Amino acid sequence: MNYRHAYHAGNFADVLKHTVLRALIESLQAKPAPFCYIDTHAGSGNYPLEGFEARKTGEHKDGITRLHPAEKVPALLQRWRAGILSGEGNEDGLKFYPGSPLQVARLLRPNDSAQLCELHAEEAAKLRQLLHRDPRLHVHQRDGYEALKALLPPKEKRGLVLIDPPYEAQEAEYKLIEHALKTALQRWPTGMYAVWYPIKLRSQVQPFLRGLQRIGARRVLRVELLVHPDDSPLRLNGSGMAILNAPWNLDDVLREPLRALGSLLSQDRPAETRLDWILQEGAEPPAPSP
Ligand code: SAM
Repeated sequence: MNYRHAYHAGNFADVLKHTVLRALIESLQAKPAPFCYIDTHAGSGNYPLEGFEARKTGEHKDGITRLHPAEKVPALLQRWRAGILSGEGNEDGLKFYPGSPLQVARLLRPNDSAQLCELHAEEAAKLRQLLHRDPRLHVHQRDGYEALKALLPPKEKRGLVLIDPPYEAQEAEYKLIEHALKTALQRWPTGMYAVWYPIKLRSQVQPFLRGLQRIGARRVLRVELLVHPDDSPLRLNGSGMAILNAPWNLDDVLREPLRALGSLLSQDRPAETRLDWILQEGAEPPAPSP
């Protein structure tokens, strides 16, 4: 477990992931009934952009830093960016980038709750230190895949699971995700599940996405943003989110924000985006690959 999110916080992949996360939380807030948010790989919660790790990679400069407040962006992105900038420590400009648990914690209503799993002891301790005063938030230092079994279904009966692992061993991680989701969907078939994935080689991602179409979700939306061609295993060329049981109109909600992110986050060529239902409600899942 060498991965530390502090090196990558606020990069172009985080911008995509957290914009989609915001859209999903807003869709849950459209109804008054409380919801539960479960983060299987939560990280430490808040990342100083002037800290050693962020300065070493500078990744946020091609991510959140490109969404300058003066830039006119679609409403979802405006709300998301305002949420980042309104956090403690950012009064004089962007100094901290909040991770998924902190972004969601700021949006929870009085009866909503969050279960936040982080395996790494130091990261979990930082997360607990950050959030322990809020009784709606529960930090678990444990394996997020194992925890899912125990946490589902949540008492609120509605909500979202975010699966955002480090992919230190890519093929093994795909298997863990698929297995965890299969079990989770059996225990809680109506839950929403958002899975982040890196894109290096397209050929590595395809079998994984095909697998996600066959594990019992009603529908699956894919959202991707590529800043480089997806043909090199040596760097992060882009990333995606597969959203199982996504709200039926999520594609419409994300269309303009994704287009805007495509132009804001382009690097050496125009960024490429994808937004499509890879499993439609009522459709037959694709046959397994031979
Ligand atoms: N979700 C966070 C966000 O968006 O701000 C970032 C999470 S980071 C990509 C992945 C985290 O998963 C790391 O902090 C790592 O220590 C943790 N981790 C690795 N394996 C894990 C496991 N099996 N269960 C829970 N956490 C794990």
